[in-house]
Amino acid sequence: MSEAITLQEKRPAPSVPKDAAAVVLVRGDAREPEVFWARRGARLAFQPGFYAFPGGQRDEADAEVGVENADDSEAASMIACAARELFEELGVLAARGAESLTKGQRESVLDDLTSGRMSFAELLGHYGLKLDARDFRPAGRWVTPPFSPRRFDTHFFVVRCPAKQEPRLLTEEFDEGGWERASEAYERWRRFELMAAPPVIHAVRTVAGGLTEDLTERFLSVPQARREPVRRIEFLPGFVCVPLRTPTKPPATTTNCYVVGTSDFVIFDPGSPYEDEQEVLSEFVRELQDGGRRPLEIVLTHQHPDHVGGVERLREEFGLTVAAHRLTAEELEGKVRVDRLIKEGELMELEGDPSIRLRAMHTPGHTRGHLSFYDERAGALLSGDNVVGVGSVLIDPEEGNVRDYLASLERYRRLPRLVALFGGHGPAVGSPSAKIDEYVSHRLKRERDILAAVRAGAGTPEEVVAQAYTDVHPKMHALAARAVSAHLIKLEEDGLVRRREGGRFTANT
Ligand SMILES: [Zn+2]
Repeated sequence: MSEAITLQEKRPAPSVPKDAAAVVLVRGDAREPEVFWARRGARLAFQPGFYAFPGGQRDEADAEVGVENADDSEAASMIACAARELFEELGVLAARGAESLTKGQRESVLDDLTSGRMSFAELLGHYGLKLDARDFRPAGRWVTPPFSPRRFDTHFFVVRCPAKQEPRLLTEEFDEGGWERASEAYERWRRFELMAAPPVIHAVRTVAGGLTEDLTERFLSVPQARREPVRRIEFLPGFVCVPLRTPTKPPATTTNCYVVGTSDFVIFDPGSPYEDEQEVLSEFVRELQDGGRRPLEIVLTHQHPDHVGGVERLREEFGLTVAAHRLTAEELEGKVRVDRLIKEGELMELEGDPSIRLRAMHTPGHTRGHLSFYDERAGALLSGDNVVGVGSVLIDPEEGNVRDYLASLERYRRLPRLVALFGGHGPAVGSPSAKIDEYVSHRLKRERDILAAVRAGAGTPEEVVAQAYTDVHPKMHALAARAVSAHLIKLEEDGLVRRREGGRFTANT
């Protein structure tokens, strides 16, 4: 591929993972246990709409909590973190001695903790309670991949819910949740009823296998549960995200390639121009092939270099055809050969268990030939670069068009069922409707701000940026000026501003 390949690679540093702990709270029969999980709020910055377990980042004070039978001080502080988060988020106090407290006493302990009157260590000491490592069975340690702006190195623990304590959602973090048979929780994910990150799905599936002696070993049976990098992320059955390092627009450092299908499969946007990353993808495809599955085609959402940089390698190695919208094919002429054109409304049927049926949508805005793909039953939308999981979307004229873009977002909004949105960059979004609404209101607010700036005398995109983009880093001002141009074109068409001689804009009154 063109320039992207010869680009000097400047690697932006992904953020450093922070220590965190999560609790897989279980109860009931050891052969058919129940697990407590809950859906994260739709507007949270990290994993909005995902099903998850209680947990959070380690506090400095967690190191002061004594934990009996812990291997070392590091393990002790992570157990303290897990116990504190479990208590703060669900009101469950997994400490020895807690059974002798009345419900009212537990409430006042919680109140002392959350109000900051006493630290967790002080409270445990005051009431004669003890944390014991034997109550916290290690269940692996997962590191959030670099495609996420927030990253955690999360220690998972399985904790049996203490008798006579009933978890309840105490924080804003979760909007609904409860006990569920682990096997049913896993099946609901299989039926596309909810979305969750790989460690959570791995946990419910493992717990569904029973609370056996070898529980920890079964948790650790996948390398990602031992801090190995997570390169393939199956957010929904058959929708695997493979974030690959690309020369893309910060803060993103990767572009998501999606491998979709539960039997034969399609590869969307193999974008990395870097050989080591291309090899990561090829290795995955070879593994699937070895398992008897066939790659059918490479599909492109649009022509940007960070979405097509790995096409040729994949085409050659697996003898695949490449499909895209006609307008994308035209842009790629002389760079990447497109063998098949995809039209609005075309249906891609991928047999398997479950089967996947992707409907192509022509959704211009970011580029003219931009395609999105939607599976109604799965509630899954591949949104390309129209809506992304990290950073913002650039509408850059001439290929970018604000009016088209808003119309495309409106089409997304009207989709009948949305469980997960898979953008071209960053983590998937488990609250697609809230995310799309946020994008629409952000665009409309920008438009109002730009119009106000022109009314206040700003006459060029640069002057508008200086007035209206005070929240944007000066480094990004050149890009912002292009985005402003896109808005000014629309405002001009709307009759709200006009371009005068010399190119300066003024507001129509
Ligand atoms: Zn793009």
